Amino acid sequence: MSRVNLVGLLPSELEDLAVELGASRYRGRQLATWIYRKSVFDLEAMTDLPKDFRAVLAERAVLEVPEPERLTPSQDGSQKLVFALAGGSRISSVLMPDDERITLCVSTQAGCGFACAFCLTGVMGLERNLAAAEIVGQVLAANRLLDPEGRRATHIVFMGMGEPLANFAALVKSVRVLTDPKLGVGYSPRRLTVSTVGLVPGIEKLGREDLKVNLAISLHATTDDVRSRLMPVNGSFDLAALMAAVGRYPLASRQRVFFDYVMLEDVNDTTDDARRLAKLLRGLKAKVNLIPFNDWEGAHFRRPPLARILSFQSILLDAGITTTVRWSKGEDIGAACGQLRESPALASVGESG
Ligand code: SAH
Repeated sequence: MSRVNLVGLLPSELEDLAVELGASRYRGRQLATWIYRKSVFDLEAMTDLPKDFRAVLAERAVLEVPEPERLTPSQDGSQKLVFALAGGSRISSVLMPDDERITLCVSTQAGCGFACAFCLTGVMGLERNLAAAEIVGQVLAANRLLDPEGRRATHIVFMGMGEPLANFAALVKSVRVLTDPKLGVGYSPRRLTVSTVGLVPGIEKLGREDLKVNLAISLHATTDDVRSRLMPVNGSFDLAALMAAVGRYPLASRQRVFFDYVMLEDVNDTTDDARRLAKLLRGLKAKVNLIPFNDWEGAHFRRPPLARILSFQSILLDAGITTTVRWSKGEDIGAACGQLRESPALASVGESG
């Protein structure tokens, strides 16, 4: 029988497990506290748990936080963590320090099935969904790395490999573990951002979960024609359907929806695009992040000249829309937006479906 990984279980599931093993719910809460609040991953070190409870636990469960197989530092201070997962897939997380803020970008799938034309991860295709333990594990592993400096990631963005809303159950579970204030890792949901390619049913479901996390939409175009060329998903959920779903996403009073817009020369960077974008966002509490295209070998796109990016930005600003240009970090180490691709750990891993 395979043993369950305690990392990634909700505090309530740890309580249930304790009861199943003949202990009280209180023991489950102690377990959650050790794992998520104290970052202790060794049953032997959980000294206030009865010995016999620890013994049955050890028979039924494991505590596994993935160890990065490789750490690649960038010249700009960011760092890519590569993890080799069970089954042979490799995924990456990126740590991006910026003054007081340390943002961790986590993956939710190995590879991605959405095939956006400008994104290198799309070239991999989808290998598999990550389990909640593997998503939470990336956060715990990164925090363990930062611990000697007395720091931890302050913000988590679900913007690594994969489409978070296509791995919905594991995404929601990992958000709950990370944001449970008493027995979880204790992040404020406002420090978490879930980014999506625009899966309308997923956006609606996420809203109903009432997790209070930030929502980021990868928009990238202002007409269905261009968007469908760049993002095949637009064929299923077009701009009108997407914007309607975004308008219904529940927001707190000062919360906004983020719109990411990768800037591609002569594709989506004209003044007409900027004006159409302003019109699309009218009436929404929105913030735009312009991401200058990050190049990769074989890509059919170019980054626009700086002047073009800045005039695009100023049209949005003039329309009263908060707009920043987000220069990606880790471009020199293949860790920037759209550059995450890892080869499988096993040469024999092929298509399975
Ligand atoms: N699948 C989700 C999560 C990934 S987020 C989503 O699409 O939102 C990664 C972000 O980087 C997305 O906004 C994506 O469109 C953007 N991106 C992809 N390739 C890029 C590239 N080459 N240069 C800049 N940004 C890119």
